[in-house]
Amino acid sequence: MKYRNLGKTGMQVGIIGLGAEHLDGKDYDIVKDTICAAMEHDINMLDVFMPGNDIRQKIGRAIKGNRNKFIIQGHIGSTDINQQYDISRDLEINKKYFENLMIDLNTDYIDFGMLFFIDSEEHFDEVFNSGIVRYAEELKRNGTIRAIGASSHNPVIAKKVVETGIVELLMFSINPAFDMIPSDMNVLNCLESGFDANVMFEIDKPRQELYRTCESLDIPITVMKTLAGGKLLSDKHTPFSKPLTVSRCIHYALTRPSVASVLIGCQNRKQIEEAVTYLTEDVADLDYTEAISGMNKNFKGNCVYCNHCLPCPAGIDIASVTKYLDIATMNNNAIQKGVGQHYKELPTHGSDCIKCGSCESKCPFSVSIIENMEKAVRVFGE
Ligand code: SF4
Ligand code: SF4
Repeated sequence: MKYRNLGKTGMQVGIIGLGAEHLDGKDYDIVKDTICAAMEHDINMLDVFMPGNDIRQKIGRAIKGNRNKFIIQGHIGSTDINQQYDISRDLEINKKYFENLMIDLNTDYIDFGMLFFIDSEEHFDEVFNSGIVRYAEELKRNGTIRAIGASSHNPVIAKKVVETGIVELLMFSINPAFDMIPSDMNVLNCLESGFDANVMFEIDKPRQELYRTCESLDIPITVMKTLAGGKLLSDKHTPFSKPLTVSRCIHYALTRPSVASVLIGCQNRKQIEEAVTYLTEDVADLDYTEAISGMNKNFKGNCVYCNHCLPCPAGIDIASVTKYLDIATMNNNAIQKGVGQHYKELPTHGSDCIKCGSCESKCPFSVSIIENMEKAVRVFGE
């Protein structure tokens, strides 16, 4: 497993995590075997958003004796009133379900108390201008949770959430198709109705801005909907020129700014093993650019941080240099300091560029890389 820092929390997370949603309704033996497979592969992030006692208790039994091997995301506001997944903003109901989560999991703490499903201004108000956020803050003060997180599918609202200064982790839906859907559309509808390639012209700017803002504020992102419910793997349902693989979808998410861990909704041991093959794939097998580059011309000139342009004879990590440059030149002067530090920590910088041009001939999106390296020197001083 490879690990990344979880922002300011001091925790370290495996880049591949387990979303337990699809274990709901499974026999205990399957739940146990899937959790064991996760542990065998050093997966340490576990998302438990499901409100039902049955699956929570099965997970609790499966992790017994190994609680400290997992960083658990538990959700405040996820309920199953009327026997169905539902969102509640009723404080007492939120408390009941969250306290029951700890009883079901047989633990006296949850690592991240996640403010659940904040996708609209209305949701934002219901959570942040109510007792719910104060409840989460109290849980943190008394050590019941180690940190406050939030989940969202809407980049504009998610940015507002991370800018409150209250949340320390964002769970967000990321895949290359969602990233191309205009942010005023609900990406979750695509999981039902399919993708409309006619609206997918470019990487949505509010999404880019969200990821860059998170990186600037040192707020890590855990990723959900990495495979768009499997649609990106399917010849029939993908909006791209060809289906992606699980590894390519994981790689796309992991190459977005601030992403710390990609949570895969595995249903069994086999799917865990398929997810962790990412860690041993050849670089060529992670290349997602071929699938998305045929979409349209609006990608031209915009770096997607894929590193398809490597190797660079000067050893420059072109995607990282460009990523930090993009973040530093966002229209927000107040948040550049941390990014400058990240840039300095790179082993090589824009100033190492020998202008050989080999990268530019390999970039599928015609990015002016040499120009970007020169700009990075002007912005960061090296
Ligand atoms: S410059 Fe082009 S090839 Fe290199 S990381 Fe950016 S988009 Fe990918
Ligand atoms: S032009 Fe600069 S960044 Fe590109 S491959 Fe050559 S040395 Fe590396």
